[in-house]
Amino acid sequence: MYLQLMGLSKSYNNITAVDDLHLELDKGELLSILGPSGCGKTTTLRMIGGFTPAESGKVILEGRDISTTPPNLRPTATVFQSYALFQHMNVIQNVCYGLKFQKLGKKEMLGQGEEMLEMVGLKHYRNKPVNQLSGGEQQRVALARAMVMNPKVLLLDEPLSNLDAKLRQKMRKEIRDIQKELGITTLYVTHDQEEALSISDRIAVMNHGRLEQVGTPRTVYNSPASRFVAEFIGRINFLAGKGEQILAVRPERITMSEVSGSLLGTIAQKQFTGAYTTYFVRVSDHTIEVDVPSLEDREWNPDDVVYLSY
Ligand code: ATP
Repeated sequence: MYLQLMGLSKSYNNITAVDDLHLELDKGELLSILGPSGCGKTTTLRMIGGFTPAESGKVILEGRDISTTPPNLRPTATVFQSYALFQHMNVIQNVCYGLKFQKLGKKEMLGQGEEMLEMVGLKHYRNKPVNQLSGGEQQRVALARAMVMNPKVLLLDEPLSNLDAKLRQKMRKEIRDIQKELGITTLYVTHDQEEALSISDRIAVMNHGRLEQVGTPRTVYNSPASRFVAEFIGRINFLAGKGEQILAVRPERITMSEVSGSLLGTIAQKQFTGAYTTYFVRVSDHTIEVDVPSLEDREWNPDDVVYLSY
């Protein structure tokens, strides 16, 4: 194992933020830590980077215990939620800052910085003071500054939160491409389930400081280990099964028809999203969500009576 978190714990004023966390990462892997606000994601990342001392537990990197190594001496690079750029420097100075402590010639240093700026799409802002950049641009400078260090572990705390939807998708792909190309082992903190599903090799789902499940995006989506995971990742319907059973069914797994099916309901509302339409179907005292791909010709309307099958 490349990176091991062994029983990390941290509490603030007797409130447990992270509770006995065990996680292992392979070299070159991108693992997302996903969970709702306040579940302990940032605290976990800060313990790995050395910014918050762990109360108990160890951080082991390549077999070496780095739990007490100061942050500046850890082979990690962090992109904070607040980016923490050097405000009195311009873009390229920010990106190259950490490289100064490596034995590189000036030309080589600038070359690497420029290459990274190119990757994040900010080469044209090379000489611009960072305090004149938008939030999203600053976020990208922070990313470039961390990635240029080619760290052993890259720690990203909601690195795309300030970007608009379109740019977020683009950057998601860029981060993944660069991360794979350079083979950087990465921990990616996000509360955005779609982001975690699309970017990760594996996802660790956290709730109240504890791990709920660790698995590939497909596993956590298709075989959630708990009701919490099922509800947090994607949308899901809970249907009464036989006896005590509860069936959990994703909206895209339900089909709708006007002729036959196992449940009879009435459409209460519909929402068109582009690729599919979500129908909210009243079945006795429940509302069931059904996604119908836009490619299907049939369209229903509120008050239509429909059959559902799953
Ligand atoms: P978000 O997605 O909102 O950033 P998070 O999952 O990253 O949340 P953390 O920032 O790790 O959550 O916080 C976990 C818990 O610890 C929260 O209840 C938070 O209020 C608490 N906490 C975090 N930092 C401190 C601190 N410096 N002092 C006191 N309590 C803290």
